[in-house]
Amino acid sequence: MLIARDIKKTYRRHAVEIRVLNGLNLEVQTGEFLSIVGASGSGKSTLLHLLGILDTPDSGEILLDGKRIDSLPSKERDQLRNRTFGYIFQFYHLLPELSALDNVLMPAYIGHSWVSWWPTRRQWRRRAYELLEKVGLSHRTKHRPRELSGGEMQRTAIARALLMNPRVLLADEPTGNLDAESGRGIMQLLREINRDECVTIIMVTHNLEIVPMTDRVVRISSGRITDDPPLLQPVPTTPLLLAI
Ligand code: ADP
Ligand code: MG
Repeated sequence: MLIARDIKKTYRRHAVEIRVLNGLNLEVQTGEFLSIVGASGSGKSTLLHLLGILDTPDSGEILLDGKRIDSLPSKERDQLRNRTFGYIFQFYHLLPELSALDNVLMPAYIGHSWVSWWPTRRQWRRRAYELLEKVGLSHRTKHRPRELSGGEMQRTAIARALLMNPRVLLADEPTGNLDAESGRGIMQLLREINRDECVTIIMVTHNLEIVPMTDRVVRISSGRITDDPPLLQPVPTTPLLLAI
């Protein structure tokens, strides 16, 4: 469904060049919950941004359903970003002045003019409410982010990512700022969403403890996806990881 083909990406800061991705190839299947592990600085966030067309590669292609999406005109890219992809970040990126419900509604506000918003506002609010219910926050709809715990903020961000019914969720260290128990709760929620809503999920993380809950694990190293087992620390003996 989503393919990265021979992706190269170099950052330039003053006279310094940092080659981050160096001919990276990856194929993601529809409905899969994939985790990509790698050390800090290995290019995980860079790769996720490229897959979600938040940034463009220096060379190589990103394909969705066989069609190239990295070189689309900006209007079509904006539409894909708003409707096909949902994004989840380590630090939630919620707007502090808005309630949880309004944060969840943000992608719909962005996708509408005032004229097209007004007649549909009740449906959108109902959907946002249902999503907050799904992530276990129906009792927190009016809370602002600073009145929520880390796990609750991430749940709000997940509800926001689902609002437009995306086909692909891209999660960048979604449990990276949470204690172990809240992190497990977030992983269980992502697992449920993947199963119940048929959303493909691509998660990058440096935390190997959470990856056994996903379908497949690959490793990023030296700017590529490698076949080496992702053994960066002692691994729990689960059938999934032993199979890799
Ligand atoms: P990870 O998410 O695996 O920790 P990143 O993709 O964020 O890694 O970054 C990979 C490398 O690229 C790091 O060395 C980082 O410092 C560098 N880098 C990331 N973004 C930029 C940028 N906008 N400008 C310059 N260097 C960057
Ligand atoms: Mg990162």
